[in-house]
Amino acid sequence: MSNTKGYAAYSPSEDLRPLDFDRREIGPKDVKIKIAYCGVCHSDIHFAHDDWGMTQYPVVPGHEIIGHVTATGSDVTKYNKGDLVGVGCLVDSCGECPSCKDDLEQYCQTGMVLTYGSPDPVMGGVTHGGYSTQIVVTEDFVLRVSDKLDTKAVAPLLCAGITTYSPLNYWKVGKGQKVGIIGLGGLGHMGVKFAVAMGAEVVMITTSPDKGKDARHLGAHEVLISIDEEQMAANAGTFDLLLNTIPVQHDLNPYIPLLKVGKTMVVLGASPVDLHTMGLAFGRKSVAGSLIGGIRETQEMLDFCAKHNIVSDVEMIKMEDINTAWDRVMKADVKYRFVIDMTAFQ
Ligand code: NAP
Ligand code: ZN
Repeated sequence: MSNTKGYAAYSPSEDLRPLDFDRREIGPKDVKIKIAYCGVCHSDIHFAHDDWGMTQYPVVPGHEIIGHVTATGSDVTKYNKGDLVGVGCLVDSCGECPSCKDDLEQYCQTGMVLTYGSPDPVMGGVTHGGYSTQIVVTEDFVLRVSDKLDTKAVAPLLCAGITTYSPLNYWKVGKGQKVGIIGLGGLGHMGVKFAVAMGAEVVMITTSPDKGKDARHLGAHEVLISIDEEQMAANAGTFDLLLNTIPVQHDLNPYIPLLKVGKTMVVLGASPVDLHTMGLAFGRKSVAGSLIGGIRETQEMLDFCAKHNIVSDVEMIKMEDINTAWDRVMKADVKYRFVIDMTAFQ
């Protein structure tokens, strides 16, 4: 076992504070990673605040992990000491069910092991994530990362990246399609970059008029202010796909008229929504969900990013400043992902 320093949530209402804990011994298929950077996802905050009613404390959040391999088990074949690697939201799954066999480990039917907050089969308690100095993960859930990209800006690809790439891929976004990304935060800014790289006409749909310039800088062709009813009406019936990243409970109904007949809004945000189904019926429209992505697709996304030179726009923070950073995420005041510099916390 190896002693690890981290920052943990101890209850839904307290600030995060330090936790010392042990990582498991390296098993034959395990890779040990010294964490260099970890992104700050809004899901970390939902989980720590027990928004989903499933949190066991203490728990160390963090599932946008980049680091270097420091040791490998005897049967590891894919990685060597010194390799630059990533770990996302999953660290294991059953490997046997139809979803796992289809490379959709995120939909494992017997329950995948989340990077943090899942019962830990080896150490007891719950799994602990990347707001920590090191992690031990089975090699099949470790991703290869190109060292051509800015490493610290790669970290958010492990969640914000794959969560937006996967639905854009699944709904076959490309040239000739108009795609709307709702909410310019961590997920939203990656959604814009990917949809642009895939050749779509991309519209940033935001509540914050002052983010308009940034959205264009990120590649969006147009900006639509969602609180402006005239602008919303002018865009009715024009979208082939909407990705909704709003993190709080909200009313979906004003967004549904934006879709063309037969098209889909994918809700990625993890809070309840209000929806009147008649808005869908008039136009045979769909509202869908989507959860991160499987390991194969996550590797494909990382390779796509290396090819197209895509990374996240990040603001670096120290581990000790995490509580201030979370307050700013809650106020939608981040451009566009905080990343913790774990090299300064050893
Ligand atoms: P984030 O960085 O906080 O960004 C969310 C953005 O939504 C904000 O920047 C803001 O953009 C907009 N927004 C915030 N409050 C709003 C409100 N009251 N009404 C309308 N828009 C609002 O969050 P994130 O890390 O991108 O995560 C977004 C959501 O996705 C979270 O709920 C997270 O848990 C979830 N998530 C889901 C998955 C999945 O697999 N499905 C994976 C990761 C995260 P504007 O200022 O532009 O309006
Ligand atoms: Zn996340």
